[in-house]
Amino acid sequence: MAKKRRIVIALGGNALGNTLPEQMAAVKITAKAIVDLIEEGCEVVVAHGNGPQVGMVNNAMIALTHEDVQQPNTPLSVCVAMSQAYIGYDLQNALREELLNRGIFDIPVATMITQVRVDENDPAFQAPSKPIGKFVTAKQAKMMEENFDYVMKEDSGRGYRRVVASPKPVEIVEISTIRTMVNSGNLVIACGGGIPVTRQGNHLKGASAVIDKDFASCLLAKELDADYLIILTAVEKVALNFGKPDETWLADVSVEEAQRYVTEGHFAVGSMFTKVEAAVDFAASKPGRTALITLLEKSRDAIQGKTGTMFHQ
Ligand code: ADP
Ligand code: MG
Repeated sequence: MAKKRRIVIALGGNALGNTLPEQMAAVKITAKAIVDLIEEGCEVVVAHGNGPQVGMVNNAMIALTHEDVQQPNTPLSVCVAMSQAYIGYDLQNALREELLNRGIFDIPVATMITQVRVDENDPAFQAPSKPIGKFVTAKQAKMMEENFDYVMKEDSGRGYRRVVASPKPVEIVEISTIRTMVNSGNLVIACGGGIPVTRQGNHLKGASAVIDKDFASCLLAKELDADYLIILTAVEKVALNFGKPDETWLADVSVEEAQRYVTEGHFAVGSMFTKVEAAVDFAASKPGRTALITLLEKSRDAIQGKTGTMFHQ
């Protein structure tokens, strides 16, 4: 039997929704797309983002602190861990059900709570940029800066929001467990908004940061020696001159071409830029590695070469 193609699939925001009921509905659709790939003969590892979910958990924990003075503030790393468990629970349940519905009984599903080591000297810590949680008034923002050591920023006239650092992932702490689980045929959900930690001797200290899922899944794909990294998002393909009259959708790009487009500024920072960077990084890391950027519902077509934007050497 031919060796299965190994795929790391990175789920974007729209694969999970923003609220509990939205996520419950979204994971059913997401599970269908993932099991489609399994039926195509692929071995799939699932990674995902967690922006809205970690924001929600963070808000809930702040409310708890306000309600009960005995409750200290919850570190962001703990909020990330909570969001991983919450998303993993919904995903693993939906995947299990979809596999059973299709008569696939030999693929167990599990979520690995994943810590991702970052460098404490990463310059991102000096320039927190990722907004998280709800908007608050200037007065509340001042209180949060004083009491919780938060960095608060005014956000385009809509109020103040906490901003946190988004350092580059350096190491996936649980990688050998993840590898063992994948190699023995489990469908693994991992690295979903990796819990950022820094190393202090044998101690891993939670960092006040969030990790970009595009970079975390790229590292996961490299570490698992995957054949494909599929980054799912809200567009079917990546474009040059996005949103302009001369917009051109890309089907197939080499690493060199993509790097040129990056320097020409075709990809918006904060959205498509990190995806293209992660795709290029993965494709350039070893011959035969391919990255794809596409829509969730197009992932099967993309793996068959019918759509999406493909990055290769
Ligand atoms: P995700 O939750 O999947 O990370 P983002 O909103 O961060 O989604 O990024 C995807 C968005 O990037 C697309 O919906 C699109 O609006 C935007 N985008 C910016 N530049 C481009 C481009 N050059 N080609 C395609 N989409 C682009
Ligand atoms: Mg994004």
